[in-house]
Amino acid sequence: MRFDIITIFPELFNGIFSHGVVKRAIANGLVDVQTHDLRNFTHDKHRTVDDRPFGGGEGMVLKPEPLMEAVESMGLAAKRGRDANREQVILLSAQGAKFTQSVARELAGLERLVLLCGRYEGVDERVNELACDRELSIGDYVLSGGELGAAVIVDATMRLLPGVLGNEASSTFESFGQADEEFAGDEDGSPRSTHGAGGLLDYPHYTRPAEFRGLAVPEVLAGGDHAAIRRWRRERALEKTLRNRPDLLEKAELSREDREILAWLKSAR
Ligand code: SAH
Repeated sequence: MRFDIITIFPELFNGIFSHGVVKRAIANGLVDVQTHDLRNFTHDKHRTVDDRPFGGGEGMVLKPEPLMEAVESMGLAAKRGRDANREQVILLSAQGAKFTQSVARELAGLERLVLLCGRYEGVDERVNELACDRELSIGDYVLSGGELGAAVIVDATMRLLPGVLGNEASSTFESFGQADEEFAGDEDGSPRSTHGAGGLLDYPHYTRPAEFRGLAVPEVLAGGDHAAIRRWRRERALEKTLRNRPDLLEKAELSREDREILAWLKSAR
């Protein structure tokens, strides 16, 4: 999969993409990430990318000409003829639809993603209209630029691509993951390190030492009762979701046992 990021601060990405999973994916040729300096698409001496807003008001707006030229240099089909199942141009925007794990799963099915990073008060709206397939926000807060959003989208999308994570199951069995009917049991009946979250948050994780500063690892995890471990993890995932993100419970895939556990957790609060 190829990612192109159009920005006035390409250097911002140097650190982010040269570590960990992303670095390895690039080195292994699984993904190609290119950053493009928006100023290279200007033609005046001062390399001007912004201008004052029509209608007055504070701040500056990114001009449409350099952005359109930058997008057009990417070799994509024009918006009208574009196959959005293969390639998409995305505008980072606080006014965008929310970027979620399910959007990441959708984007991971594409071959090409071009990300436009706004700055100042934002981007001339005609760029959105003329070039962009969607407008995405990474959350309900205002950033000073789209670069962190672009990095978030590249990271979250890339780790879903085949071969990027060492362990394929890792990206299925985690917070916001899909349910795991087809993975319900391993052949030997042992629990996986994680399991399909079915829209819940992940359960808590522990590693050695078994006792740390007076806190012991939950006893059930040290025993070999795989069914008990599975139940405990499900219960803790339900508890954490109820505590931190009760909104997710409305859409989560819950079994009768899950509902019983939830009723018990609520009564115990
Ligand atoms: N005036 C705009 C904010 C502009 S912030 C508003 O009130 O909606 C400048 C740039 O930062 C935006 O153009 C966008 O590219 C980026 N940005 C800000 N918040 C963002 C968010 N939550 N998600 C993604 N990009 C964001």
